[in-house]
Amino acid sequence: MLTTEFVREKALQYGADLCGVADIALFDGDAPQRNPKSILPNAKCVVGFGFRVPRGLYDAMERKVQFMNYTSLGVKYMDEDFSEMFLLQMARIFENEGYDACLQRRVSNLKVAGDKTQNPEVRDTYELTLSSPVSEGKPAPEIIMDFDLAAQRCGLGCVSRMGKVLTPGFGPYVRFVFLVTDAPLQPDEPFTEQLCDGCGACMEACPGGAINENGRDTWQCSVYYRGAGKSNPLMREDFLRDDPEREDILSGAKRFDAESAREIYPKLDFLPSRPTGYVPCLCGKACETACMKHLEGRGILCRK
Ligand code: SF4
Ligand code: SF4
Repeated sequence: MLTTEFVREKALQYGADLCGVADIALFDGDAPQRNPKSILPNAKCVVGFGFRVPRGLYDAMERKVQFMNYTSLGVKYMDEDFSEMFLLQMARIFENEGYDACLQRRVSNLKVAGDKTQNPEVRDTYELTLSSPVSEGKPAPEIIMDFDLAAQRCGLGCVSRMGKVLTPGFGPYVRFVFLVTDAPLQPDEPFTEQLCDGCGACMEACPGGAINENGRDTWQCSVYYRGAGKSNPLMREDFLRDDPEREDILSGAKRFDAESAREIYPKLDFLPSRPTGYVPCLCGKACETACMKHLEGRGILCRK
């Protein structure tokens, strides 16, 4: 019989750092387009897995010596390759026991209708405004779970001010995947502690002022993630030389929306993104590094 402990043991063996199980009842009330029960109507639980992003990748960006390795290993490889291999291996365990396993990895450039945000990690996002339900009472495809809420419900961490899940083991340096199943696993407790104390270190660290008390402005973030701020070591002196807003852009004072962000993207071509569609992170994820230092300073991380 499949048990939570067995699933956890296998997950760690196959390369996950964190594993937790959420009772499907915790997703009651979620919009149909985000609800795991729309994916598997007889689902009993959602299993969440976290992979640590090696901190050396962040350290190299902080020291301004390497940026591409974070993007390719810490973002693309984790979301597209490693997580897929991992989930396929986990699915075999569930199917061998006669259960369904609907695998959920982040599809970085897709957004459900009505989600106007941008994922700064990819060249642009696509909002699914044209899809329609195949029959009455069904949500329009694609169903995209809210990964941050799912991680919290699986007991893995809490959503922070900067819009990232903080975990007690690895702070914000974690990426998640999920599996929706009809296996009757014993659920873990949802994560109820609040690790984010609202210190504001992430806000101060962002070169584009993309974070405030209300969270992260993803369009503003997408511009500074691509290196529009002065801290970008690849920026030449003649960058935006004739632009009257140059100083405001470099200092992070200018505010970008979807239109103005898309307008400036072609000029923020400091390192290649064309082969993969993933944008090199030239802000160094300063918000997450500042948060990590803050959490370590408070001594609340259980792993060094
Ligand atoms: S840096 Fe402070 S305010 Fe920002 S997410 Fe971390 S704990 Fe919360
Ligand atoms: S530091 Fe980078 S990733 Fe963080 S909010 Fe600012 S631009 Fe976005």
